[in-house]
Amino acid sequence: MPGLVSQLTAKLPQQHRWALLSLVLLSATIVFWPRPSHTPAAVSAALLPSQLQASWQPWSLEQKVQRQLQKLQQAMAAELSSQSTNALVRHYTIEPGDSLSRIFSRQGLSQQQLHQLMAADQSLLALDVIRPGHSLTFQLDKQQQLQSMELLLHAGHRVLYQREDDGDFSYQELLNAGDWHSTTLVGDIQGSFYVSAKHAGLTDAEIATVQQLFRDRINFSRDIQTGARFQVVRSTNYVDDQATGQSRIEGVRLFNRRQQLSAFLHDNGQFYDANGESLEHAFMRIPLDRTFRISDDFNPRRLHPVTGRLRPHNGTDFATPIGTPVLAAADGTVIRVENHPFAGRYVEIQHHGHYKTRYLHLDRALVRAGQRVGRGQRIALSGASGRVTGAHLHYELHISDRPVNPMTATIPLAQPLPEDGRAAFFQRVAFMVKQMDEETLLAQQH
Ligand SMILES: [Zn+2]
Repeated sequence: MPGLVSQLTAKLPQQHRWALLSLVLLSATIVFWPRPSHTPAAVSAALLPSQLQASWQPWSLEQKVQRQLQKLQQAMAAELSSQSTNALVRHYTIEPGDSLSRIFSRQGLSQQQLHQLMAADQSLLALDVIRPGHSLTFQLDKQQQLQSMELLLHAGHRVLYQREDDGDFSYQELLNAGDWHSTTLVGDIQGSFYVSAKHAGLTDAEIATVQQLFRDRINFSRDIQTGARFQVVRSTNYVDDQATGQSRIEGVRLFNRRQQLSAFLHDNGQFYDANGESLEHAFMRIPLDRTFRISDDFNPRRLHPVTGRLRPHNGTDFATPIGTPVLAAADGTVIRVENHPFAGRYVEIQHHGHYKTRYLHLDRALVRAGQRVGRGQRIALSGASGRVTGAHLHYELHISDRPVNPMTATIPLAQPLPEDGRAAFFQRVAFMVKQMDEETLLAQQH
């Protein structure tokens, strides 16, 4: 009993410990209390009712105490088991320098379980870019085996990995588009555009976008005059009043000498100037300079040949021999150059608007993360890295974080402003211009 008591009390709140201890002491007192001889005569009918009562009283008290002790033990056992159930749900917030491998070790989870997760993540690649502030929620079973893991990227984007009956994991993406709110940033250029834009609150990526939009019309290092003015409308994403960290430029105007440049984002993901002229270089349908056989089609409902589990094929495969040059499908910024046990070496490019492209199983990347690339630029050499049956290029196109068929999706081609969207576009332009001019006036008054 004392062994059990100390074992139980170690994990119990203070008041429970006291209740348990006093009950134990009480029952011990009763157990060792001199008791009447327990002979058949004691329970014979010859005993007087008062004697019966007197002889039974300590016993009934002891039983009562034991019953209560039993109840308390049951309650404590229930509490302990609920405590251990809670310990089976663990929450972890990513810190600088963390790697999944290290997080798994520290959580007492095996590298094999991580490997299974990476296999499930092969078509999503969400686990490759865990950053400080992202968080993980692990759910374990009683054998400390991972049952599910939730990755929270931001308030509007969660990924749930769940163990299936055969031990493999499946994933489910939970997206919430939220709301977009715009703000206007204005400034005068003193020195370089970069420094002045930074000062006005633009990020490096936003500055790169502006420079790329106007690159055919102005040379930022040579043509900008001191005192030139710029106006930028930036839209920021919120889910339940919480900023998700996602933002995009929706309008830019630049006044330089007598030159006036403008760019406004249309619903189709392309930028047009205030007259509705396209500023974009078209997307390439195929990111290769020659034609290759398509060896596997995009198929979001593809089933695994062995397990029968849904294993979406989120891209188009081209039968490219190792070393085939891979080209950027459109202008953009390289946001990932990574190595994945299944996807192999891969590159991801963020384009204007909501477009992203991915190039998997590469032999060699010719770009680095953060680098701006132009349409048709060589970004890699194709290969057979990761888990593949043969050399090929796996090419993905994402619109608003969802993979689409790159061969059939409506892609931003350098096309004139679509007829049916013209009125709405010019209405939005007028609205943004008003916002920009108001903000500029306000800034000049200060
Ligand atoms: Zn593929």
